[in-house]
Amino acid sequence: MTETFKALVIENTDGNYKSEIQDLTISDLPDEPVLVDVAYSTVNYKDGLAITGKGKIVRDFPMVGGIDMAGTVVNSLDANYKPGDKVLVNGWGFSETLWGGYSQKQRVKSEFLTRVPDGFSLKDTMAIGTAGYTSMLCVLALEDAGVTPDQGDIVVTGAAGGVGSVAIAILAKLGYRVVASSGRTSEVDYLQSLGAAEVIGRDVLDRDARPLEKGRWAGGIDSVGSKTLATLLAETKDEGAVAACGLAGGTDLPTTVMPFILRGVRLLGVNSVTCPNQRRDQAWARLSQDLDVVKLNEMTTLEPLSRLPELGEEILSGKIRGRVIVDVNA
Ligand code: NDP
Repeated sequence: MTETFKALVIENTDGNYKSEIQDLTISDLPDEPVLVDVAYSTVNYKDGLAITGKGKIVRDFPMVGGIDMAGTVVNSLDANYKPGDKVLVNGWGFSETLWGGYSQKQRVKSEFLTRVPDGFSLKDTMAIGTAGYTSMLCVLALEDAGVTPDQGDIVVTGAAGGVGSVAIAILAKLGYRVVASSGRTSEVDYLQSLGAAEVIGRDVLDRDARPLEKGRWAGGIDSVGSKTLATLLAETKDEGAVAACGLAGGTDLPTTVMPFILRGVRLLGVNSVTCPNQRRDQAWARLSQDLDVVKLNEMTTLEPLSRLPELGEEILSGKIRGRVIVDVNA
């Protein structure tokens, strides 16, 4: 009898969008050179958009969802990988045009694989996932722009979410004074436990700012966009920098050129999906060095594959705190 395994399949037939767990066989998988036994995946904001269909993420149907995966190589036509190798994938079009990590097995191109860094388990890498790896890309962008801990406060928006939580933990460990901006007053203790020195309400930044306001931030990591990012730019000090990676509050940016031309503020775009392998490897190496695994565990919950349809709704409604690992075999 042909062996079957489980996967979350997203379909869109005649406008009827649905995500459900289905049984697949190896022959259903894409014809790619590396077969991976998947152990864990994650739930990121983008996964929520793909699972629910509330964002136009999936381009080809049927699609196996999941922008992340971590697992063990079963066999490989590429000599760089051998059975037993521990690998992970972040992005590269997973859950958009390529079948992704919400599957107990997956076949992928070898150039999309990242080796699991020493010191991390497969589960740790998915506690980090795309959200956490993007946080590190944002930290690297701020460092490249010359932002250092002695220059003043760094603000992190969408603080209780995935990108925000990991960013706070990394920045605090690196010695920055971190101010967390969150809409969830109930999460003040949580944000402080990750290393936030101060917590401010979401509304402090989500407002109509003047083109320039009193300089308050040496830098920022923004996963919200819209008025929040515009206020952050207006409040960034001379020669400061803001890494922008998200749109949880909207895709617009109602700002002016004033912060750029009068204060030399830098707006740094961060894209994790097609980020080159060299930068990915750098980010993962830095994560293994600069992210406290105890704090990572504090911000993480573990969920089974079967809960994905609900989890997709929950992340979009801002109900998920920190990071979610998906055990695809539970
Ligand atoms: P989460 O849902 O975990 O975090 C988003 C957080 O934003 C929420 O927890 C909430 O934080 C805040 N938020 C939610 N809705 C609103 C709103 N309407 N207005 C203001 N704040 C809001 O998502 P992720 O951490 O996975 O992703 C965060 C963002 O970053 C997403 O937009 C995602 O698409 C983007 N992203 C981009 C990547 C890239 O490559 N550029 C990679 C990874 C993520 P709180 O309750 O604390 O206010």
